[in-house]
Amino acid sequence: MLEQIFLHQKQFSLQLRKESLKTRLESLNKLEEAIRSHLAEIIEALAKDFQKPAAETLLSEVYPTLHEIHFAKSQLKKWTRPRTVKTPFLLMGSTSKIHYEPRGVCLIIAPWNYPFQLTLAPLISALAAGNCAILKPSEYTTHTSRLLKKLIDETFAPEYVKLIEGGPETNAALLSLPFDHIFFTGSTRVGKIVMEAASKHLTSVTLELGGKSPTIVDASANLALAAEKIAWGKFLNAGQTCVAPDYILVQNEVLSEFKAELFKHIEGFYGKTPDERRKSPHFARIISTHHTQRLANMLKEAQKDQALVSFGGDVDIENHYIAPTVLEKVDAHNDLMKEEIFGPLLPLVPYKDITEAIHYINEREKPLSLYIYSNSKLNIERVLNETSSGGVCVNDSILHFMNPHMPFGGIGHSGMGSSHGFYGFRNFSHEKAVLTQSWLGRMTRLIYPPYSDWKLKLIRLLLKWKL
Ligand code: NAD
Repeated sequence: MLEQIFLHQKQFSLQLRKESLKTRLESLNKLEEAIRSHLAEIIEALAKDFQKPAAETLLSEVYPTLHEIHFAKSQLKKWTRPRTVKTPFLLMGSTSKIHYEPRGVCLIIAPWNYPFQLTLAPLISALAAGNCAILKPSEYTTHTSRLLKKLIDETFAPEYVKLIEGGPETNAALLSLPFDHIFFTGSTRVGKIVMEAASKHLTSVTLELGGKSPTIVDASANLALAAEKIAWGKFLNAGQTCVAPDYILVQNEVLSEFKAELFKHIEGFYGKTPDERRKSPHFARIISTHHTQRLANMLKEAQKDQALVSFGGDVDIENHYIAPTVLEKVDAHNDLMKEEIFGPLLPLVPYKDITEAIHYINEREKPLSLYIYSNSKLNIERVLNETSSGGVCVNDSILHFMNPHMPFGGIGHSGMGSSHGFYGFRNFSHEKAVLTQSWLGRMTRLIYPPYSDWKLKLIRLLLKWKL
């Protein structure tokens, strides 16, 4: 069945190439209408999947998706226009353009943590670039995946866009097909599996992966503001955010003050007592028992090795609840400091000076995001120049993800390629170089054989001109 859908899409993709911009705009409009008419169901599905608060669903799932559609619609004419580039002297008479050609049939694989947005945002770029697509959302968010399937089935013909439900086995079957592009969002571990499968067909890949996103808070920072923004960025979606601050490097002399501010803001967001926080409707749950157990094990291991739980620490496996938790003195060999945490556990790591903080980051894999809270221009410059990461947010958390004018993506273990706005469109397009010759092109005969002495002299002259 998968092969049939793929073959139908392959055929339709050839037809789609001939369609005008209007078809792409209509598809984006239809998708927008479908989202708007299913708003209540979207909120309900995400609440059922992991008690995601309605405000968080609207803000972090629906808004970025609609914004991506609006941005694509307003920019599409500009993006799709062939871009004229300069032509060197030797090619005098010809014109050179870059055409953005659809890749063809694309596979989009999504994770569970923002199941709505991370399935549809890449689809928007794929449609804007004129592709067909097969979508494979996560098996963990069954309610959202089912709703997405309904929404896609109602909106698109299967030879254009089709959503397939299933887990790793379904992915394995899909990955055996010769797609024209694969856009994968998920863990680094599965990213490697995807890239290996893609290599069999030489399929291009965009890998939006995870990792440990460090946050630096130096002594010059506005600590109250930093603590508030970190508490929001870390505990949004119960820490299950790819760009969530993973651990905080805090300069020694402000550690106590920062901690007090952090605790104050966690209490302000989710409740003053452990019981209030447990019952908070503003705090999401962990996606499954398995994932809750993984976090509980990390916490237990760290505590066994003398880590200090300075805030929170409550665990309720049955109800998929891990309290917003702050830890200190975590052993560098514990999973908490080695693996992406992807939950509401926040280790604090004190440091002496910015050189030490930079060294700490550079000793590890290149992160997806890096945050620095500072009022020192020098420290900010040093961090920007001396570290490498997918993106950086200075004096805030997560917000760089929300700007469609900037590319979003990782580097090394945190991914390759980028998404959002033009960069997403470009990822789903092939940049085709088109050189068109004019009558002046006869001049190039000067360099054809037979190579007489004067032609050789002319070629030598060309080298001297550095053209
Ligand atoms: P995951 O890698 O386990 O799963 C992602 C997708 O891959 C799912 O659709 C799943 O069905 C499929 N999959 C799982 N195992 C597979 C296998 N063995 N073979 C083939 N396919 C397989 O990731 P997840 O747990 O759903 O999501 C969490 C991860 O995603 C975190 O690491 C997070 O940082 C990352 N993430 C990255 C971004 C980003 O934009 N860079 C965004 C969200 C999440």
